[in-house]
Amino acid sequence: MNVKVNDSCIACGACESICDAVFSVEDVAKVNEAEVAANEDCVKEAADACPVGAIEIE
Ligand code: SF4
Repeated sequence: MNVKVNDSCIACGACESICDAVFSVEDVAKVNEAEVAANEDCVKEAADACPVGAIEIE
């Protein structure tokens, strides 16, 4: 699974609340690639919850 945060991110913090092993939010959300494989379920949850659809999963 590849996870990216695109330029739509408004730094709302929802993804970090849902899946803080993978997402950290400062100016924009950042992805900790090393933790994606172990946290795929919450990555999907975070992508569904993102209000602007900024989390892209491939
Ligand atoms: S949930 Fe979406 S908009 Fe909010 S910080 Fe995460 S990527 Fe950005």
